[in-house]
Amino acid sequence: MFVGTGGSPINLMRQVRATGGFYVELPEVRLYVDPGPGALVHARALGLPLEDLDAVYVSHGHLDHYGDADAIVESMCRAMSVRRGLLLAPRSVLEEGLVSAFHQGRRPDVPYPGGPRARALEAGRAVALGDGAVLHPVPAHHGGENYGFVLETPDLRLGYTSDTGYLIAYRNADGERVNVEPGRAVIDFEAAEDVHLDLRAAFADVDVLVANVTFMNHFASRQLTAIGLGDLLTGSHVGQAVITHLDPALTGAGGEDRTPLLAEYVERVSGVPTLVARDGMRLQLHPRGGGVAAAARGGEEGPRA
Ligand SMILES: [Zn+2]
Repeated sequence: MFVGTGGSPINLMRQVRATGGFYVELPEVRLYVDPGPGALVHARALGLPLEDLDAVYVSHGHLDHYGDADAIVESMCRAMSVRRGLLLAPRSVLEEGLVSAFHQGRRPDVPYPGGPRARALEAGRAVALGDGAVLHPVPAHHGGENYGFVLETPDLRLGYTSDTGYLIAYRNADGERVNVEPGRAVIDFEAAEDVHLDLRAAFADVDVLVANVTFMNHFASRQLTAIGLGDLLTGSHVGQAVITHLDPALTGAGGEDRTPLLAEYVERVSGVPTLVARDGMRLQLHPRGGGVAAAARGGEEGPRA
């Protein structure tokens, strides 16, 4: 379930799309990912069972990813009356107190007995979750400590990119090599020349990839972009890509929603079925080998993201 599909500081301020992150429900685990500001209100409106979460995941220390983490943890731990659940976040996020010490479960002096167990994410250290799920952190390239993940169960591999740069250099229409630099848009893209190959490898065979694309071709030094995602998926075995974490710049004059163009582009260049998430959208997750890995539907029961 996509609670909020907005990203970037401009969207954080304006809430054109909500900054609620997403909720994953599988037979093995219930996980809340990147609860930005508004997550609690929107999750409640959607009827999500926050008291039954197994874990809250914060990818990095930007407000659109952790703003409501305290509130979601408070629900997971049932008004901080029960010691249950995991809080997963980069060590720097925990040490800087971006999630409060109380909501990290580290304030035994406070007269509430509940709280989660906080665990710092580390590259190469898988985390067992719920009843048979395993989360593999995937370091992202975005500034500061930041992890996407691959969540693995016997039936499904779900990838999440978090915010990350991917393109390092590309060839333009004149055949020139252009280095991706901060503040410079990717123009006249012909083909990728250098990319973060670690991301290609990490997500190459997930069934569903949730991708924080944010822009078509801007800020590629720190954002995936649709151009980057198209290259990342090309030649992969990804079953379904889902674009989220979008900037309001993708809303055209007169309020026209241009985000479908991102999915069209990515699907055309990569051949991987791609859709754009909407706030409140439920995505049905199918087990491996079940044909199309995911489809956007509403109001169905069963495993969902
Ligand atoms: Zn960020």
